[in-house]
Amino acid sequence: MEELKGSRFAHVTKAHPCFNEKMHDKVGRAHVPIAPKCNIYCNFCTRDINQDENRPGVASCVMNTDDAIEHVENVTKEGPIAVVGVAGPGDSLANEATFEFFEKLGKTNPDLIKCMSTNGLLLPDYAERIAKLGVNTVTVTVNAVDPEIAKDIYTFINYNGKIYKGKEAVEILIKNQLEGIEKLSNLGVIIKVNSVLIPGLNDEHIVEIAKEVKKRGASLMNVLPLIPLNKMKDYPRPTCAEIEKVRDEVEEVLPVFRACTQCRADAYGIPGKKSEDKHLGMTPASHY
Ligand code: SF4
Ligand code: SF4
Ligand code: SF4
Repeated sequence: MEELKGSRFAHVTKAHPCFNEKMHDKVGRAHVPIAPKCNIYCNFCTRDINQDENRPGVASCVMNTDDAIEHVENVTKEGPIAVVGVAGPGDSLANEATFEFFEKLGKTNPDLIKCMSTNGLLLPDYAERIAKLGVNTVTVTVNAVDPEIAKDIYTFINYNGKIYKGKEAVEILIKNQLEGIEKLSNLGVIIKVNSVLIPGLNDEHIVEIAKEVKKRGASLMNVLPLIPLNKMKDYPRPTCAEIEKVRDEVEEVLPVFRACTQCRADAYGIPGKKSEDKHLGMTPASHY
């Protein structure tokens, strides 16, 4: 299994701009904004539909899956897109459209790498379905593996039709994230874990996250600076030195991806090349 995973990792990461820093300014990804709903409340998150903010959780529209396939057809003609991802603007697994989309994409563009990002709440339930659809890479955002820390990052989760708050909520979330990573990784899907660095809250804890997710089969970590918004608007934005320190610590445990600049849920083009990185808000609606 390890060997099989190793060869899959090499094959996929050779062409994936979010798993291989050397490709971040060479090949492109296209995010299709088809997943507006979310099933948890992260205290730093403000999802929005707008044209100008450059951050996750933002898209200029929500597409249906047929429009998303047409969008992929168009952008793959424009440039070297290797990866198609569902990255919100909500949670990919909280939206049935994500599954519908990958099913269609598997028929129309079987050679593109299929990618998604998720908070992981529903991963244990959907791991087999994700693997069956041929999704190659999944990014799971894990901001704490200690409920005492996590309870200050999340307000609630909506799980199986019920709202959970406080410690009860985060215990379910952490359990599902870790179980889900293990399940998915055992099914051969390559996993990157994103952790949002929140100064004074989880900055000394991220290395613990790395150790736990490594045990469950994650291949790569991405430590991202908090964008202080919503209930966390008064938190400081981490400095470059703080981010580097944590990345160095994590690198002792797992490889770290350092080129991420946190893009929108409707970004497309080459992420590391400013002139070739676009999003749907920049495209006249009549164009597609
Ligand atoms: Fe926002 Fe993503 Fe958290 Fe949902 S999981 S609240 S979309 S950051
Ligand atoms: Fe990259 Fe995440 Fe988008 Fe996948 S979902 S293409 S890892 S940014
Ligand atoms: Fe993925 Fe970050 Fe690169 Fe965007 S900037 S494509 S989120 S690694």
